[in-house]
Amino acid sequence: MCGIIGYTGTDGAVGDVLLTGLSGLEYRGYDSAGVAVSDSSLSIHKRQGEVSELEEALPANGIDGVAGIGHTRWSTHGPPTDTNAHPHTDCTGDVAVVHNGIIENYQQLRSDLETGGHEFISDTDTEVIPHLIETALETGASREEAFREAVHQLEGSYAVAAVFPGSETVYAARNESPLVLGIGDNGHYLASDVPAFIEYTDRVVYLEDGQFARINPSGIVVTDEQGAVVETAVKTVDWDPEDAGKSGYDHYMLKEIHEQPQAIRKCLRERVSELDGEVTVDELDDLELEGPVQFVACGTSYHAALYGARMLREHGIQAQCFLASEYDVDMIPMTEETVVIGVTQSGETADTMSALRAANRTGATTLALTNTVGSSAARECDHVMYIRAGLRSVWRRRRPSPASKSRWRCWQVCCRMSVQPSSSNGCVIYLT
Ligand code: GLU
Repeated sequence: MCGIIGYTGTDGAVGDVLLTGLSGLEYRGYDSAGVAVSDSSLSIHKRQGEVSELEEALPANGIDGVAGIGHTRWSTHGPPTDTNAHPHTDCTGDVAVVHNGIIENYQQLRSDLETGGHEFISDTDTEVIPHLIETALETGASREEAFREAVHQLEGSYAVAAVFPGSETVYAARNESPLVLGIGDNGHYLASDVPAFIEYTDRVVYLEDGQFARINPSGIVVTDEQGAVVETAVKTVDWDPEDAGKSGYDHYMLKEIHEQPQAIRKCLRERVSELDGEVTVDELDDLELEGPVQFVACGTSYHAALYGARMLREHGIQAQCFLASEYDVDMIPMTEETVVIGVTQSGETADTMSALRAANRTGATTLALTNTVGSSAARECDHVMYIRAGLRSVWRRRRPSPASKSRWRCWQVCCRMSVQPSSSNGCVIYLT
């Protein structure tokens, strides 16, 4: 899971925002990092290794311009090297692109582009995007049209952002990879996740699959696949910016281990009464959990879901657990009473999202058990229950309703799914 950050602003802060953003995305894991800043020309800097190594490699007078994009890469196509790190550019160096995800038809696109005379320098699937943009520009398309034309040729999953020299506009699009826009006082942001810019703004717009965005210092414009302008809802997140950093720990993993007691406390607060043992889950008030339950998940979430299914069966509820990548609604009996529970920390796990979308198409009821407010799982499922662990503990205090107490069985499962005993060290929170 790599990360993207973009910024366009009037405050001369592009360099700072990009580097702060890359640090804020480090928790996602990565093997290389890079930035591209637009001024009269593009300046691109990228390095295999940590963001700190990229920072050391930057010019002594820093980087600045009118707009910029940054990337932390988690290699899928080609090893982690300086050359394969993002941003990537075209033959002329007139566009810089960062991308999160996998372009499934890149081999065909690359071969066609090479036949047309384009020269590639990296092993990545991503590099086809700037060359596709270059091709469209050569036919007289505007920069925005060229970006759209390039994205329309991609198959697979992507969050992609591009900048051009001498332009304060950042172009972006998404399909099955997250992108969120930030509305600031002096400029606008885009990122894979809010922690990248939470230090600067808490006002956000979540992009949906198939949408495009054009951001510049004076505003954001979101359009659909056909180019029609889409009304956007600005949401306010109430995360503590302090939470988004490493809080003095050397690594995010260390921070997360030490924060387990707080994470568990936040997860249980106002849901479990210590005095009378009552369990209250307001979010599930209108969820009927009588029919068959199917859990879909990947990795450690799958292991937690296996346990959850067993708990439900022990309470007389028919429950199964599926690896999301193996979940096939055509092969599994589904009824209108079926409840499909997707367990995904990020709310973006690709296979889990595919499984939940397939379940939605059948008319089954879907529930996202996730940590990430505003994530695809949270937005696309009929119901959502937040785990509230770690920095994504966005929740507001609400008075419990008596009706929700009847949901204790479901809560019991969810609670145990989130917190499991560990052989060595007290407990761990099982999330992917
Ligand atoms: N597929 C791209 C690459 O290998 C992007 C990987 C990522 O999401 O970081 O460079």
